[in-house]
Amino acid sequence: MTDTARKPEAAAPDSRFAAKVFPSPNHGERKHADGTPGRRPDMLILHYTGMPVAGEALQWLCNPVSQVSSHYFVFENGHTLQLVPEGRRAWHAGASHWAGETDINSCSIGIEIANPGHPGGLPDYPEEQIAATLNLCRDICERWSIPPERVLAHSDIAPGRKIDPGEKFPWRRFAEAGVGLWAEPAAIRGGRFFARGESGQPVEALQAMFAMLGYGVAVDGVFDAKLEAVVAAFQRHWRPDKVDGVADSSTITTLRDLVAATQGSRTA
Ligand SMILES: [Zn+2]
Repeated sequence: MTDTARKPEAAAPDSRFAAKVFPSPNHGERKHADGTPGRRPDMLILHYTGMPVAGEALQWLCNPVSQVSSHYFVFENGHTLQLVPEGRRAWHAGASHWAGETDINSCSIGIEIANPGHPGGLPDYPEEQIAATLNLCRDICERWSIPPERVLAHSDIAPGRKIDPGEKFPWRRFAEAGVGLWAEPAAIRGGRFFARGESGQPVEALQAMFAMLGYGVAVDGVFDAKLEAVVAAFQRHWRPDKVDGVADSSTITTLRDLVAATQGSRTA
């Protein structure tokens, strides 16, 4: 058989930046919060595979035993495959939260970027892979009208549980190309900071800002391990020079600037 075009899995990808379809069985129907079908994706979630060998990660995402998948898979050399149709609910987010949404799989498109991840020393993302991922993201955001503040890391929607795609991911470059939200990180210097164990009104105000940006955080004035994980997730995305879970003045100023940018884009 040389005529692969007749096989159903050889259907055309949804994005012109995917070379072909390589189907995963791990998907279902997109649902609204009330359980009715037909939710449209309005969020984009980026992941790294976190496995030493890209091909093995791809096989895992296409194995019915794994119960995980993504819509797209980007190899180190930029070669891109579509695993799940965009109209379907791929299983990439797991237990997650953002801006009141808890069924992130139903409202998002997920991209797995091949990288061994933190367990493998978090190698730099190769230029070919970043360029391909950026083209794909821009295409998806345009076709689905995904707003900048809803282009997120897996670590943003599952802080404390996930740390991908990691602090080496070039979020600034993506935002400059129109994908995602960015504010120039404030300089890291001394001054008042908040860390685990503290409590009170300033901590509550900090939590309220994280919640405004979208993080699933309790606004109770207690700086516990969960808030520390949120601070670290925020830093991994928006203040990557220092990821320590301490809300220093640079972190708080950068957060404030991002919240302000978000409010601006929502009222524009
Ligand atoms: Zn992930």
